[in-house]
Formats: sequence, C-alpha cells, structure tokens
Amino acid sequence: MKISKLAIDIGHNVQFDGGAVGIRSENELNYEVGTKLIEKCRAAGLTVINCTPSRAISLYDSLNKRVEAANNNNADFFISIHHNLCTGGHGSEILCIPGGRAEEVAKIILPEIAKLGFTNRGVKSRNDLFVLKNTNMSAILIECAFCDSPIDMNNYNPESMAEAIFKGICNAFELNSSERNNPAEQPNYYTVVRGDTLCSIAKRYGTTVQKITSLNNISNADIIYIGQKILIK
Ligand SMILES: [Zn+2]
Repeated sequence: MKISKLAIDIGHNVQFDGGAVGIRSENELNYEVGTKLIEKCRAAGLTVINCTPSRAISLYDSLNKRVEAANNNNADFFISIHHNLCTGGHGSEILCIPGGRAEEVAKIILPEIAKLGFTNRGVKSRNDLFVLKNTNMSAILIECAFCDSPIDMNNYNPESMAEAIFKGICNAFELNSSERNNPAEQPNYYTVVRGDTLCSIAKRYGTTVQKITSLNNISNADIIYIGQKILIK
C-alpha cells in the first residue's frame, strides 16, 4: 500500500491537553519523537501534515483540531505519538480500531520498536479514542513507552524511537531506499562565478569560510577561480 500524505499528531503539548508525567514528561517525549519522525518522513518525500495544534481552548478543542487538520487535508493515514503511564507497566503498544489498514500498519510498526528492546505489548483494539474514531482515514496511536518506567526510561533515545517508527512506516507504505535518502545529506557542489568570494559563498549557504576551506583543502581562502567546483557539505 502506498501513501503520499501522512498526518502526524504529536500528542498533548497544548493548553488543556497536558500529557502524563512520570520519570520524564510525556509532552516532552512526544515532542522529541514526533518532530524527529516528521523530519524523517518529509526527507523521504512524504507530505506530512503536522496535526498538533498551537493553541486550544479545551481538551475537546485540542483533539478536534488534530482530527480536522488530518481530515481537511485529506491525509492518507494518521499517526498519533504518545507515551504511556501506569505504575509497574513497561513496553510499547499501538492502539487502533481493528480489522483494517490501521491494524495491518500497526502490526508492521510495532515489531520495529520492539527491536530496540522494548517489550511488545501488542496491537490493542480501541474504539473509544477521539482521534481514532473521528479521523476519516485509517489511524493509529502509538504508545511508544512508559514515561514512568525505569526500564523504559533508562537510556531512552527519541532518535532511535523515531527511526524505528520511520522504518515501520517505510515497510508498511513501500517507501523505497532511494526515496529515503535525505537530500540534505547529498554532497552539494557550487561552481564559482565571477565576483564570488569564499565569504559570499559561505553566507549564501549558511556555512563558514573555515568549513569550506577545510572541506576542499583550500590553503589560501583568497584564491578561488571561476569554474572551480566547491564542495559545500
Ligand atoms: Zn498521551
């Protein structure tokens, strides 16, 4: 199954909709994992709708704005990022309305998270959650880990969590490896034209003369020539 538009919802993180607080705050963890996941999906060529509202006047308003962002933008799939709280619990689970695409995708993503060492608590059926019930597209809610569990929070790494979810997304939606290449990481050459200085080139690319000279083994920063190919990053 292929998609082009993915709705990602960073759970809570707005007034009237605060997350759980354990050893770490759920808001903070959701934000860290969610923003990294959004970056990865965008770099892979997906259009990502960030459904997290910037303000809300009630809990209902917060949840409804998330659903509306996904529905109004005709997203193909909806993923909400959360962290669990329950004294004594640990591990990862994905909640969804069972029996369709949501469950299929959940079953592909969850083992990727479990590979990081989190206990696989399974894909769980939930028919009562607002964002799952009211989104027009298939929707899942990932409880990445327990924010009050020492087992889960010890050495918790939002980057590897985001990467695991992203891998699951790539597998579920058949994103191939060439689409996964981050264009920002490709070598980027600039060809010198008349009037250029290393200083003007550095400014244009948001880098420094020092970085450019060391990348290109340029010993004298004042000497560059027209047509010279300069590696920017
Ligand atoms: Zn939550």
